[in-house]
Order: sequence, then C-alpha cells, then structure tokens
Amino acid sequence: MNQITEFCTGCRTCEQLCPKSCITMEYSSEGFIEPRIDVLKCVDCGLCQKKCPQNISNQLSLPKGIYAVRNKNDNEILRSASGGVFVALAKYFLEQGGACVGAAYMDNWNVGHIIVKDEKDLPRLQSSKYVQSDTMQTYTEVQKLLKNGIKVLFSGTPCQVAGLKSFLGNADTTNLLTIDLICHGVPSIKLFKSYMTWLEKKMGGCIISFNFRDKSAGWGLNYRIKIKTRTKTKTKSCVIDPYYYHFLQGNTYRECCYRCKYCKAQRIGDMTIGDYWGIEEIMPEFFSKKGISCLLLNSEKAMSYISLIQSFFYIRSSTLTDVMKHQHNLLAPTPRPQLRDTVYQSLNNEDVNYFFKEVLGYPPNCKAEFLSMLPEWIKNQLRRILFRLKNR
Ligand SMILES: Cc1cc2nc3c(=O)[nH]c(=O)nc-3n(C[C@H](O)[C@H](O)[C@H](O)COP(=O)(O)OP(=O)(O)OC[C@H]3O[C@@H](n4cnc5c(N)ncnc54)[C@H](O)[C@@H]3O)c2cc1C
Repeated sequence: MNQITEFCTGCRTCEQLCPKSCITMEYSSEGFIEPRIDVLKCVDCGLCQKKCPQNISNQLSLPKGIYAVRNKNDNEILRSASGGVFVALAKYFLEQGGACVGAAYMDNWNVGHIIVKDEKDLPRLQSSKYVQSDTMQTYTEVQKLLKNGIKVLFSGTPCQVAGLKSFLGNADTTNLLTIDLICHGVPSIKLFKSYMTWLEKKMGGCIISFNFRDKSAGWGLNYRIKIKTRTKTKTKSCVIDPYYYHFLQGNTYRECCYRCKYCKAQRIGDMTIGDYWGIEEIMPEFFSKKGISCLLLNSEKAMSYISLIQSFFYIRSSTLTDVMKHQHNLLAPTPRPQLRDTVYQSLNNEDVNYFFKEVLGYPPNCKAEFLSMLPEWIKNQLRRILFRLKNR
C-alpha cells in the first residue's frame, strides 16, 4: 500500500495506530506533514485506511445550544483571540487534576500540540496560530491519560478532533471534552517559518514574541511582533501583511481544506468556538472591544457544562442563523483560488524577499500602513481622542 487517502489532513491517526509502526510522518514539498508507508514492513492490514477520518463518515451533531459569550476575567480575555472560552474551560479542567491539549509555539517557530497540566503553561495554548499545528504524539498521550482516569480537554481544528476520535475508537471517553474551532484553513509550517525568517531579515533582529491576535487596539485581526536587535527591543503592530492577507484570502491552505468535511453546521467536537463576528449588529448591547466568542454546545456532554459556562462568562443566547451571517466556514469550505496553484511552487523557487514582496503582494491599504508606522503612544492618544469625540 502506498497511499491512505487522497486528501490527507496530516492528523497522524494512521501513524499512531499502525500495528507494525511502518508509517512515518514527513514533510511534503509544500511543507505539510503527511504519512509515508514503509512498504517493506507493511502487512496490508488496511487499518490505516479503515481508521483514516477522511475515509469514514464521522458522527457529527447539530448544536443544541448557541451562545455569545465573554470571559469575566479581563486578563484572560486579553490573551485570547476572541472571547476567552478556551482558557476558562482549561482552568476548570486543571483544577480537577486534568490536562489540556492545544496548539503552542515551540522552538524555531514550529507549532505543535502540547499537553498542559500546570496553569502557568496555559498562556502557551492561548490565542490563534494561523498555521497548521502538528498533533505530534498527543493522541497516544490522551489515550494514556484517559486510561488512568484523568480528565482531558482537547482543542484543535475539526480535522484534528476527528483524528483523535477515530484513534480512540470505542475507548471510554467519559473524561474527554473536545473543542473544535471554526476554521477557514491552515497554511504550512514551511510557509510560516519562511515568513518569520523574512520578517527577521526585514526588521534586522530576532523575533522574541509573535501574536496574530493582539488586542492592544481592541478585538480584531491585528498582529504584534517583538523583535530584539543588537541594541534594543522593538515592538511592531500591524493590521495586514503578506502572510496575513493571503491567509485571510484563502490562498495558502492545505489542499484538504478546500474540500473540508467539517465546514458545516453539524460539528465533530463536543463544543465549537469561534469569533462572534458581526455581534455589533446582532446584539449591539453585548458588543465588547475585548472580544466576543460564539460558543456552540453540540453534545449532551457539552450541555452538562451549561451552569459552569454561566458562571465563567457573560452569556447571551443566540441562533445558528445569526452566527452563520459572518461564518462562511459553517456553511462550506473556503473556495480554492487560482493563486493556490502556484503559491507553494513559488515559495520553493523564488528568493524569500521576492516571494513575500512580489508573489504575495497585496493591494495597498494606506490607512492601515500609515497606522502601523505610528508609535504605540501616538496610536493610544488618537484612540482616546476618537473615543472622546464619539461619546460627546
Ligand atoms: C487556523 C485557524 C483558523 C480559524 N478560522 C476561524 C474562522 O474562520 N472563524 C472564526 O470565527 N474563528 C476562527 N478561528 C478561531 C479563532 O481564531 C479563535 O481561536 C477562537 O475564536 C477561540 O478563541 P478563544 O478566545 O476562546 O480562545 P484562544 O485562547 O484564542 O484559543 C483557543 C484554542 O485555539 C487553539 N489553536 C490555536 N491555534 C491553533 C492551530 N493552529 N491549530 C489548532 N488549534 C489551534 C489552541 O489550542 C487553543 O486551545 C480559527 C483558528 C485557527 C487556529
């Protein structure tokens, strides 16, 4: 056997289930991980094909509860991408002696799923990393934790949750709660790391922190980088740049994302979280610059958390129709644009500077560019003035 599925998501279910350990994960030329089968060791048992979440029809459920929520703790919400749902549930699991699994930045700007058992490590899981996270060995580790009676909160993209569920099969999952993200797709780690290299070259230093969803200017799609040069530490905030622009346009995703089975209202996770975009029109009185999440409770298990949820968050009931107004990926996968045909070839063939400046060029946004050049204190002054003018 030399292929498991046509549209592999790189979840690692096959690698971790193979009874002969003959599957290894390697990088494709685009920089996405995918399985390679050692045909000499393979005994053609077919387990990898049978358990591949792309080959089976997964059990999906329509949400039973739909809410707009905001974490009551301001520090926690500020570190989160939207309304801080994940961190509140994660803290609850840790208080119960449990473990939380999610995506974290690692050495050399790799991104992978890690297991957190101590609250001091939780910030590593917070906020969105807009690149594919490697689930590494977490499925096997979750299986061990569950066998030992430990509660586990697993969060990730829907395909990662599907992978975990398929891997666990009929195991007892009473102690497992899964959260899937509303997801528009993932670029490869190779593209992300090239981007970091380009930024470091451009800014003449070493990136010491990076956040796609910085909230110093309020909830939105603003990123912030901290760079250490030989003489000082610089902070740069920005609303748009080549990587972010083309991520949002859907030009750089893994091929399977354009055929994603999970871009629908029926969900794979016990809970689904996302930004509650459009809340300012739908429930203006509930809008907050700190961020609002939409939270879908998809299973009876998730519904059993409702009283806890009411104690952690400011909460309003909502409807699927309202949530879907600005969430195209609850209806269908992102359409595959033409640029996707060549973008990764260019990444491999072109100089990094040319690639990010020319291939990933984007229409000028003068207001955003101008604002990104201003120092933070001037931006804060402007915000204060605008706020005063609006509230006069
Ligand atoms: C690739 C990607 C695409 C997304 N697309 C959309 C979208 O189209 N619409 C929308 O409303 N929301 C989208 N989100 C989700 C959104 O950005 C927030 O993560 C979500 O609203 C949760 O916010 P929070 O404040 O509760 O928690 P946060 O603290 O912000 O994060 C919650 C969880 O996100 C997980 N996470 C972060 N990065 C990754 C990653 N690369 N892979 C897997 N898990 C990750 C972490 O493990 C953490 O547990 C996307 C997120 C990612 C990572």
